[in-house]
Amino acid sequence: MYVLGHLISAHASGAFPEIDLRRGEHAMTVMLPDLLSCHDWGYHKAWAIAGAGERSDLVLAHMLGDAVVHYGARWQGLERKSGWAYLRMGLVARRYDAFYEYAESRGWRYGGLAWDSRRGWAHTMVEYSIDQWIADRMDVSALFETVRTSADDTAVDLGWVHALIDQHVITPQRPVECQPYRYCGALSRSREPDELHLRGLAVKFQIAETPESIAWLRGWLREIWRTVGDEEMRDVLTSLSDVTADPVGFGYPLEIAAYAQGPGPTPHRWAGPVVPGARHLTEEKTHG
Ligand SMILES: [Zn+2]
Repeated sequence: MYVLGHLISAHASGAFPEIDLRRGEHAMTVMLPDLLSCHDWGYHKAWAIAGAGERSDLVLAHMLGDAVVHYGARWQGLERKSGWAYLRMGLVARRYDAFYEYAESRGWRYGGLAWDSRRGWAHTMVEYSIDQWIADRMDVSALFETVRTSADDTAVDLGWVHALIDQHVITPQRPVECQPYRYCGALSRSREPDELHLRGLAVKFQIAETPESIAWLRGWLREIWRTVGDEEMRDVLTSLSDVTADPVGFGYPLEIAAYAQGPGPTPHRWAGPVVPGARHLTEEKTHG
């Protein structure tokens, strides 16, 4: 899942009423695990950072979203990948060879490069169809502009990134000297909201970014969400926002007790019941 999926589901959760995630505010903070490539750290350590501050909670929200899509809404550890991306990967898995062969035949991908695993490729395509559905169904133009600015600003000054790395002893899986620039570059090159994830997909699968290759990737993702339909896509988004609203209720081992005794009069975002109706989405397009 990419920027649109993470920001829209976190917004819909109602867990961050003080931040305008719907317009892309704090986008790069939410995307820190992708920006740094530190999901190993995230799945093992991120639950413990609840309440360590606004930025930390946003990073945690990203990991909750990834956990739902990969492992399922209820947290049961890292044993079984039974989230939606894996349940639905059969929609494309059989066309794995056709995907790589076509990209190579068009000269978008160097023939000597290794292919991702079938499972890795198929679940990623399904996962990114969430972002495509959002881009096709909602007006995310304001969010898009903010995300691009946020990516440019982050590439210029990684100060806050290093501060979080130090605060939470984060161990990135890729070199911090290049991964954030690689990540922000794809966002920065985007000219349409859905190019955020389409260019991200191209970078991930080592496919050249041309207008034709981007349109081709868009076609794949659209076909996935059109096959499952709006209702199922809405259910996926709802499960993402439900877990972000109440992760403890879904079995995530958030150490909220420490925060509950902490300073300040504001109750922790995950310590109390969530306002009903907060996740209702507005501004849906009627067609697209
Ligand atoms: Zn992620």
